[in-house]
Amino acid sequence: MIVTSVDEAQSELARLFNRARRVTGFTGAGVSTECGIPDFRSPGSPWLRNRPIDFDLFLSDPLMREEAWRRKFAMDDIYAGAGPGRGHRAFAQLIAEGKMGAVITQNIDGLHQAAGAPAHKVIELHGNGTYAKCLRCGRRYELADVRREFERTGAAPDCVCGGAIKSATISFGQAMPENEVRRAHDETDSCDLFLAVGSSLVVYPAAGFPALAKRRGATLAIINREETPLDDMADFVLRGDIGTILEPFVPSA
Ligand code: NAD
Repeated sequence: MIVTSVDEAQSELARLFNRARRVTGFTGAGVSTECGIPDFRSPGSPWLRNRPIDFDLFLSDPLMREEAWRRKFAMDDIYAGAGPGRGHRAFAQLIAEGKMGAVITQNIDGLHQAAGAPAHKVIELHGNGTYAKCLRCGRRYELADVRREFERTGAAPDCVCGGAIKSATISFGQAMPENEVRRAHDETDSCDLFLAVGSSLVVYPAAGFPALAKRRGATLAIINREETPLDDMADFVLRGDIGTILEPFVPSA
């Protein structure tokens, strides 16, 4: 069923939430566009300006590591100060009420947690771009410290253990985080309503979760302003702006 009116989408969603025993949320870059962070594929995307640096290249070429950090700091400067939007706040509320077990996200912006969702309820499939980690020992580094060191020496800094420090995101060619993938499977298996919001649903393996939920018998609902390849499989497609559709589920300040 495809719903294009906001009122109908909101009442359908309310019905779905009332009926559901356990909801699993799934989000992509579209949930953060109203916060001023552009998504990946919409026209003019700053993310597509440069060819992504593959993980192997990051590891093997110090010049590429420097370039990766230059790009990272430039992007952070553009989106510094972005705060959570209505979608993030609605999800945090559903989690607080116990209705949503967890949110599986492809996003790296940390805005679900900034909206109040407990970190252990946010499953970050592609990592988190708000801090850095040593690829060898896993030690955490704050971006401000990495940046200070980078600007002081002009070189990509290494960890005290000698390993390479990298933004805690998953790059092209980098293995998916095992624990998060396992938890995402568990949450997908245990829900009876799977709500996929603001993803073009073309990036795999992440986009496999909505289809898996459907195969396991859950109701699949998609909120997006555009068609997605999984629309035909979904029980409900709520076509429109995410923040507007989720507005009734945002707690009043
Ligand atoms: P995508 O850009 O491929 O798809 C976003 C989808 O959301 C599109 O279909 C778009 O039409 C829709 N959309 C955007 N704003 C919307 C709105 N206000 N209302 C309704 N629909 C809206 O994003 P993806 O599927 O998440 O895949 C992109 C990859 O890039 C992810 O792996 C993610 O890690 C990364 N990424 C993350 C961020 C972030 O953390 N905020 C931003 C850009 C890219």
